[in-house]
Order: sequence, then C-alpha cells, then structure tokens
Amino acid sequence: MAMGHGEQLSRRRMLAAGALTGAAVAGSTLWSPTRASAATTPAIFYSPHQDDEALGLAGSILEHRAAGRPVYLVLVSRGENDALARKMNQDPCPMTTEASRHPCAAGGHHGLSWPTDGASMIVPARTAEFMASAKALGVDKVINFKLKDSPYTSVDTYNRFVTSVKAKVKALAQQYPGASHKFTAGWLEETDTHKALSDAAYYLLEEGVLRDVRFNYVYAYDKPRSQRADGAAYVLNIPAAHMAIKRKAIYCYNTWAPDRDLYALGYHSVPEKMESAHEDPREFVFTLPSAYRPGRIRH
Ligand SMILES: [Zn+2]
Ligand SMILES: [Zn+2]
Repeated sequence: MAMGHGEQLSRRRMLAAGALTGAAVAGSTLWSPTRASAATTPAIFYSPHQDDEALGLAGSILEHRAAGRPVYLVLVSRGENDALARKMNQDPCPMTTEASRHPCAAGGHHGLSWPTDGASMIVPARTAEFMASAKALGVDKVINFKLKDSPYTSVDTYNRFVTSVKAKVKALAQQYPGASHKFTAGWLEETDTHKALSDAAYYLLEEGVLRDVRFNYVYAYDKPRSQRADGAAYVLNIPAAHMAIKRKAIYCYNTWAPDRDLYALGYHSVPEKMESAHEDPREFVFTLPSAYRPGRIRH
C-alpha cells in the first residue's frame, strides 16, 4: 500500500515523540508492583515475545485494569534473535537506507559489535524494553517463563515447547483459581512460538484446567485495516486515554538509551507492525475456532 506524504510526516513525529516519551517511561531501572489487589481474580496475559504485549495486548490490559482486575503479564520466550543482533551490528543502520520510512532512533549509527549467538545482549536488551513497556501499562505483576525460543527448529522441539508452556500455564491456573487467561491468536499469526501458546491453551481447555480463555490477534496489524476484524469475537475500541498509554508502551521499543539497556530493538525488528498498531486504536479478540488443529505450522 502506498504511503502518503502526510503519513510519512506523522510517522516521523511518532518516532520523535517515542524517543522522548519512552525514555521518560523507562526512567527507573527498578520497579515493583504498586497495587496489591488480592480481592479479585487476575487476568493473566501471555506475550510470546518482547513486543507482542505492546502491539496487540496493551488495550485489553488497560481495559481489564480499568475494570478493577489485577493484571499479570507473562513473557513466555526469551526472544533469542541472531538476525536482529546482526542487523544492529551494521553500520550504517539498514533502516537509514530504506528511504527513511523507518528512521533509526540512533540516527543511523549504533556503534555496536554484539555477539551474534542471538542471546547475549539481545535477550537482556529485549527484556529491558518489555519491562519498560510493562511499567508503562501499569501491570500488577510480571512473570518471565524464560523459555528458549526454539519451537520453529523441529517438530520435537515444538512439542517440547508446547509441553513446557502447558506446565507453566497450568501452574498459574492452579495458583490463581478463577483467573482469566489471554493468549495471542497463534493459529492466525504464522509463527510457531505463537502457535505453540495457542496449542497449550487448546489442550488445557480440553483438560478443563482453563475455562475463561481469549486470544488477541496481535499480527492483525499486518493486514489491510478493513480486514483486521474479520472473524473476531470482539473488537476492542481503545479509548483515547488508553491509546495514549498503549503508544507509550510502543515507544519503549523505539527508544535509544543504551545507558538503560534500551536499543530500540522492537522497532528495528518489526517497524511495520509497530507503526500499524500505533495508528489503529483497536484490538481484536478471538475465541478458539471449533475446527482448531493443534500442531506445528507447516514450513
Ligand atoms: Zn511474537
Ligand atoms: Zn538503527
């Protein structure tokens, strides 16, 4: 889809705002929950990677908080990404050569020489962005499953990952009876890590361990705007005040502040998704399809 000149300008404004607001949001390195809310059962949101919560869960998180529910946010995978490490090591930044559609928050020069094992530097830095985002969203608790993000490598690894997710979700379900569980709509999202979370939810629903389960379609923003709600059980129209907070969460992924471990990794990784989610004040909530088929996505 062609982008108008006005839209390019508004994107640049978003980036400028992001650099400032994200930095302010992430200003404190230590963070502890501020609300103790044992009175009601929590809504537990599962983010497969660092960024999914800002892209497609944030509005729903804020909706539940506004309703007085404690909100727990789970980071499921460690988010290893060797390609992203190699991208960040390039000088000048490849984003500067993409016709400036996605300007680099570091001005095109990162000055990094990170290991490209995909884990060291990348995992802590992506997690720093996630923690800043969680803080912006005001969640009551962050839980980090720290699972190796490897379900795409083989069927066996995929199945082991599903088993690990199942066990950890089940433990939370037992620890917080009556909690609602919010995953992403992995069967629509074309990554094995996301699909594995949906599979875990599917099996736990079948076993009666989970009852109240929803799925936010976080990759909806890849689609044309008019098609994003297709098939959704519920479209959340995010109120302006909440959308402002969701955008702050997104800015945490486009903030260049190496002194606080913030390297704008999320934006360097999925700039189009970040821009589309930033522009669309909706989230798309699904229930599990009746013809749901668990299993790894075919490659
Ligand atoms: Zn993801
Ligand atoms: Zn860059």
